[in-house]
Amino acid sequence: MPSAGQLLVRDRLPAIMELMARATNLAVEARRTLPAEAIVGKPDGSVVTAVDVALQVLILTQLAEWFGALPTIAEEDSASIGGKPAALAHCRVLLESWGVRVGGKSENGSTGIDEALHLGRIDGPTHDIDACWVLDPIDGTQGFIDGDHWCPCLALLSRGTPVCAVNGFPTILGGRVFTAEAGAGCWWMPLSGGEVSQAKVRTDTLPPDEVVRVVAPARATPSQTEARLAVGRSTGHDCALVHSDSQAKYGHVIAGLADVAYSRRGNGPGKYVWDHAGAVLLAREAGAWVGDTDGGEIDCSRGRRLVANNAVICAARGLGPAIARELAERDRVEGVRVHHARCSTELRHG
Ligand SMILES: [Mg+2]
Repeated sequence: MPSAGQLLVRDRLPAIMELMARATNLAVEARRTLPAEAIVGKPDGSVVTAVDVALQVLILTQLAEWFGALPTIAEEDSASIGGKPAALAHCRVLLESWGVRVGGKSENGSTGIDEALHLGRIDGPTHDIDACWVLDPIDGTQGFIDGDHWCPCLALLSRGTPVCAVNGFPTILGGRVFTAEAGAGCWWMPLSGGEVSQAKVRTDTLPPDEVVRVVAPARATPSQTEARLAVGRSTGHDCALVHSDSQAKYGHVIAGLADVAYSRRGNGPGKYVWDHAGAVLLAREAGAWVGDTDGGEIDCSRGRRLVANNAVICAARGLGPAIARELAERDRVEGVRVHHARCSTELRHG
């Protein structure tokens, strides 16, 4: 049965798909003339640009117009480019050129941009919320700057479970927007517009003499490269690496450009939900194996981070269980603390 969140947005899914396609195309355009001062370092060592912030404002403003300000977990906030007047000025220029109206400074000192960035903002678990947006306006900002892979990613959680997702993938198959609704499959269309067709992951077993293609980071260190190759070879196949970061790594599996993509938590605080939620649904609806190292579910209900999971694994060609086993063994050998998802009901090591 469709969830409350699903029913709320269902009729507007084609419009949301158009919105995310437009947002992606605008970012492609904005990238061509991105001034150095519009790129800002974040306290955590990552980067953000005026385009990330402007895109979040564009998307949240439009969603609020359609649905009201639903609870939202989004990556950017007023600290992203706050205190960087040149980046903020560029953000304003972008929004104006995109026809997005935001106010100036209001009585309490916040700006229209701040207010739009924080629309519906919540911080905490989502398992009791019927409909909650999860937005990363640009996943893979470093890739965006470098001309590598990046993607605007939007998911809707209903009681903590992704039920709708729309991601723009400008670098995959000539540029496509992918969408999925729980139980209704994964669909895509060219970013330039055109027909919507169904995306299906190959699930027939990879023959022994074929190479397994595993996604590795674009700027993989030698040890990361070695580890990815070893994980790939643990399936009994030769291994070739495909380079991508961000949710585009899962996009590669959905598009048939790679067989396996994964993200390990290690002893960190848990991956950000906005870096995975949409792809979890897109990949599963396309027929991929999606799960944790114990074969359990990816629990997106815990708030900003996936605190209940050790890894997000996405695989085609029947490779999921073998990859999960190998990563579980690596966690054990490396002394990684093991987490179990709340909804982990069945072990799928098979
Ligand atoms: Mg981002």
